[in-house]
Amino acid sequence: MTMTHPGLPMAWGISVCLFMALTTIWFFVRSNAAAVSSTRHFDLMTLPVIGSVLHYITTHNWILIVLKLVFAGLFLLIIWAGLFGTPIAERNIATVFTWNLWWSGLIVAVFFIGSAWCAVCPWNSIARWLVHPRLSNYKFSNSLGLKVPKTLRTLWPALWLFVGLTWLELGFGITTDPYATALLALVMIIITTTSMALFERQAFCQYFCPVGRTIGFYSQLAPVELRPQSKDVCINCTSLDCYYGTDKISPCPTHQVMGRMTQNTYCLSCGNCSQSCPYDNVTWRLRPPSAEAVQDARPHWDEAWFMVVLLALTSFHGITMMPFWENWMSTIARTIGDQGRLLVSFTIGLALSLLLVVLVYLAAVWMTKYLCHKTTTFKSLFSQFAFIALPLAFAYHLAHNLNHLTRESVDIGALLTNPLGTNTLPLTMAEKHDRMMDMVLAPNVLFGIQAGLLAFGFLISLLVIKRRSVNLISLDETNQVYLLPMLLFASVMTGAHLWLLMQPMVMRL
Ligand code: SF4
Ligand code: SF4
Repeated sequence: MTMTHPGLPMAWGISVCLFMALTTIWFFVRSNAAAVSSTRHFDLMTLPVIGSVLHYITTHNWILIVLKLVFAGLFLLIIWAGLFGTPIAERNIATVFTWNLWWSGLIVAVFFIGSAWCAVCPWNSIARWLVHPRLSNYKFSNSLGLKVPKTLRTLWPALWLFVGLTWLELGFGITTDPYATALLALVMIIITTTSMALFERQAFCQYFCPVGRTIGFYSQLAPVELRPQSKDVCINCTSLDCYYGTDKISPCPTHQVMGRMTQNTYCLSCGNCSQSCPYDNVTWRLRPPSAEAVQDARPHWDEAWFMVVLLALTSFHGITMMPFWENWMSTIARTIGDQGRLLVSFTIGLALSLLLVVLVYLAAVWMTKYLCHKTTTFKSLFSQFAFIALPLAFAYHLAHNLNHLTRESVDIGALLTNPLGTNTLPLTMAEKHDRMMDMVLAPNVLFGIQAGLLAFGFLISLLVIKRRSVNLISLDETNQVYLLPMLLFASVMTGAHLWLLMQPMVMRL
């Protein structure tokens, strides 16, 4: 028997719908000119005490090294437990920590601290220590340092790896298999190490890593950013130590020049720039969480595809945890004669789900082009409006993951004292039920946050539509009919996510 979590109650669903209706009216009455404004920031380093602490953390490497060692140790423990521990998923630290805590909590963390995870990521730390066997932050001298071939210097590799990871996670059922989880962890280490041994800087993080790129895009909506304290200092800087590195500090692993940074997408929060800048000109700032997606981030074709597919995959994640998903799989399997793990049926379901969202988005872009009567190219419209996908995906991803995090409580103490789950039995239905009832948040608080997240995602998507259309199409307010297709796209996706959240959801472990 499958355990399910209750969905969002109807009252919360109606509240979100009312919010969407009101903000849509506001969307049309708000002047286009008001959408154009410069982003305000607050320099966290200027705060008393907190500023000094932050400054110390970002300019001293030892704290980061300690954190990297802790996470790398935990990662190795997970591999060991997966390979040699119990196959019971809910009793093995490999599956519980990887899928229930890390994968679900990562997206929540991005909401507060942006790409900070990348700074301590064990894939990168271990690869780096293997290729360059020292803890300190010197340049990578053991790497061949080749340039990544031009055809791979895009986000297409990360996008396809993300689709592959989703297939393994949800289709192959790796989330309930400790051994397979450990093997995946080992494969990721091999790929990261190979990339680091061959290519300059951290090519894997910049172009190939599906997790890092997802964090990077979601970080566009984080309320924090690493930026120069003074743009003028960067303009007059001739050494560009943040980009080239120094004798003691590695260069920016993803080729960012701090003075020109306008988006978080490729920043790994590694702190190299903070440590290498001779003018101490790098700081952490607070900003409105929508600023980057709404106007500061620059559109690119491959990045736009990544964002649209990210939205599709996020929705797909939700669909596969609906009780009706198994019936759908059975129907497809019967029709095509699929047997066993139904991998062909799953692949068809995944492909259709991705295709559906992509086609709806393509149709919205095409309609916008048709209605705006401008020479703006389809590619420009596609790339600019793809930023709508970010808040929609992020809001639903967070709301969905909160269900896992708050309703699937984990006995961390028991897992740490017996990480391999030696001599344990599978959870009984009664124990599973107890875990589900032992919520970290009160149900109504959780529902309120989930509804608020969907409303937040919809609101930001409206801001993106308005601001990006001013860039591309017009400041003219007499006829705004060309805004309708994108508004419809945002409404349909939010409506679909709301409906998914209102359904009972299958418990992961
Ligand atoms: S961050 Fe520092 S090293 Fe980099 S461009 Fe600005 S002043 Fe120069
Ligand atoms: S060096 Fe590059 S990746 Fe590292 S924190 Fe600075 S901008 Fe981000």
